[in-house]
Amino acid sequence: MSSSKVLGYAAKAVGQPLEPITYEPPKLGEHDVRVSVTHCGVCHSDIHAIDNYYDITTFPFVPGHEIVGHVSEVGHAASGLKEGDRVAIGWQGRSCMQCEWCLQGEDQLCLDIVPSGTWVPYGGFSSSVIADSRFVYQLPDDMPSEVAAVLTCAGVTVYSPLRSYATQPARKIGIIGVGGLGHLALQFARALDYDVTAISSSPEKKQEALSFGADHFLSSDDQTSLREAMLSFDLLLCTASNKINWEALLNILKKKGRLVLIGFPDVEFNSTELVARQLSITGSFLGNRTTMREMFSFAQEYNIMPKVELMPMTKVNEAIRKVKENKARYRIVLFNDTVE
Ligand SMILES: [Zn+2]
Ligand SMILES: [Zn+2]
Repeated sequence: MSSSKVLGYAAKAVGQPLEPITYEPPKLGEHDVRVSVTHCGVCHSDIHAIDNYYDITTFPFVPGHEIVGHVSEVGHAASGLKEGDRVAIGWQGRSCMQCEWCLQGEDQLCLDIVPSGTWVPYGGFSSSVIADSRFVYQLPDDMPSEVAAVLTCAGVTVYSPLRSYATQPARKIGIIGVGGLGHLALQFARALDYDVTAISSSPEKKQEALSFGADHFLSSDDQTSLREAMLSFDLLLCTASNKINWEALLNILKKKGRLVLIGFPDVEFNSTELVARQLSITGSFLGNRTTMREMFSFAQEYNIMPKVELMPMTKVNEAIRKVKENKARYRIVLFNDTVE
């Protein structure tokens, strides 16, 4: 693999459709492994990066960071992995290993986070990627690759805050948004034995939300139900990125309640409510390596199953369009139909 060129799908400029390109395989660092990609999920962050929303994208840009594949080459200092192992890699493919956050084991907060992305230099919409072996996770044999692909980004993104901030038993949790992240958050929250409410502006998603594990469903446009739910939630996990009626949602939080953001919605808050009720608003980004490993075993034990639509990688632009138009139910994973 390392001697032949890599085939990837790249945006050549901001917002452009992806085109097939070939490039020299990036040089393997001593701790790195090369992974031949079999599956790669399509995440909203890929699309944001194509649009340079985070202002960190360099072009040509090969997106893709929910990767599953087989180890094809192992750096001389990489331990624990061997050629042929089936592995997953998420958004973070490495870290500096020496800043204050890395030293505390909070690698997702690494001060050098931008070049730590798996899509640097080229991501998983390709025939192979490299990553630091310490951020490459060996998979249980019976976990389907498309499931593992989604868990490696969306899974850890929802699992980490549910673990960190909802630590007491019988906590009443609201999951805002029933989409790619939300449908997984409902499953994890159910398995963690919380009292779970799905909160959505799409009442037609009620039945499915209940089937994912929600105990209750709350329509975010239903003023009567929102009033009835006032001061009742310990934690709200916001997976949505669309327009949100913050005033109504903050009102359903208990005093000292917490709102955790994992999507990227526009936010506007009334500081009086925040101060007077001692509310907290927290962002949560991915999870550290320990949480990632824990999440994989938890998902395996409780049979957490993202709902996945498989598409061939050659149809990457069609897949991106579906995600953009909010038509993915609930995540799309590309399988590599051009290699092996
Ligand atoms: Zn992602
Ligand atoms: Zn660091």
